[in-house]
Amino acid sequence: MFKFDIIEEHGGHEQVVLCTNKDAGLKAIIAIHNTTLGPALGGTRMWTYKSDEDALIDVLRLSKGMTYKAAAAGLNLGGGKAVIIGDPKKDKSEALFRAFGRFIEGLNGRYFTAEDVGTDVNDMEFINMETQYVTGIDIGHGGSGDPSPFTAHGTLMGIKACIKEKMNTDSLKGLKVAVQGVGSVGKHLVELLHKEKAQIVITDTDKERVQAISSQYGCDAVSPEDIYSQNVDIFSPCALGAVINDDTINLLKCSIVAGGANNQLKDARHGDILKDKNILYAPDYVINAGGLMNVYLELEGYSHERALNMTRGIYYNLRKVFAIAKNENIPTYKAADRMAEERINKIGKVKQTFLGRSGRRFNNLVKVDSK
Ligand code: NAD
Repeated sequence: MFKFDIIEEHGGHEQVVLCTNKDAGLKAIIAIHNTTLGPALGGTRMWTYKSDEDALIDVLRLSKGMTYKAAAAGLNLGGGKAVIIGDPKKDKSEALFRAFGRFIEGLNGRYFTAEDVGTDVNDMEFINMETQYVTGIDIGHGGSGDPSPFTAHGTLMGIKACIKEKMNTDSLKGLKVAVQGVGSVGKHLVELLHKEKAQIVITDTDKERVQAISSQYGCDAVSPEDIYSQNVDIFSPCALGAVINDDTINLLKCSIVAGGANNQLKDARHGDILKDKNILYAPDYVINAGGLMNVYLELEGYSHERALNMTRGIYYNLRKVFAIAKNENIPTYKAADRMAEERINKIGKVKQTFLGRSGRRFNNLVKVDSK
């Protein structure tokens, strides 16, 4: 039985859509958390959930996160996300993604999808056959392509905001950075840090990647277990979530945690502990918003230059977060939430002003009147 209290508990979403198509093998949920700022945008995750309730909770949690991420990034986007219940290795088909695409189309632009864990650019192409409301498609099809260079660029801007705050410097030259994970985001970040003349130590569970990146950029490499205790200025998580946890937090010797990974704090209280330890934490959804900014520009008319300019704004977004944290003596993760909520509230109120007959809600009235 579907429960409204689960929705209430996980953020009071505007709309939750259950999508089924037996012939196509589709079972999916689209969650639209908040559209005050604009259409909800967030990827489609495909995963083998233990229960339908687990899938519902995941999509509610992820879509709420997108509202905060878009709001803090200064984008005119709301928060949404979708999950398809199934095994991405076995259950994918053209029919499944096209059936799903039709549900998105039916939402008439309230929700835009993109790739996420378990889905890729090919799946987006099928979705795109049925709906225009899909982003992150291949450059060849008018999309913006791989977002990770922009996520990495935004992360570098965020690291610069951190060193300004903590060390009152603009230069990374000679500063030591430990990068955890040299996949799509991490490898681009290492390249950028190398250009900034930072001293870099890397790790990854994929030994070939470590070998390739360390020989290309001449950086040190350590085992995945040893990355936390490195004697560095900055620890940059670019692999998994929940890496700041009870087991790792006391190993840290850095004064800054700033990286591209999602959900870095295992629990919110780990953000409080970082503050107590005088370690500056760049809230993950603020520093890693470069990929979202890149995809957002697909809706406005994409340009590589504009995307790079926009990701530079992450520097200023983080400076604002740090100022709020300082003024209110709160941890930076709470300051980021406050900044996002304040923007949603303020812009929500701006949007209350009646727009006269040009207001889109009254298009029908205008037509009737003009006859
Ligand atoms: P990816 O899969 O390309 O890279 C992740 C890397 O981490 C891989 O090389 C993997 O081998 C490594 N890894 C996995 N477990 C590890 C461990 N225990 N220790 C060290 N390394 C480990 O993923 P990505 O696209 O680079 O994303 C990295 C993180 O950034 C994820 O948390 C993702 O959600 C987040 N993120 C990515 C983007 C983007 O544009 N790709 C945008 C926002 C957030």
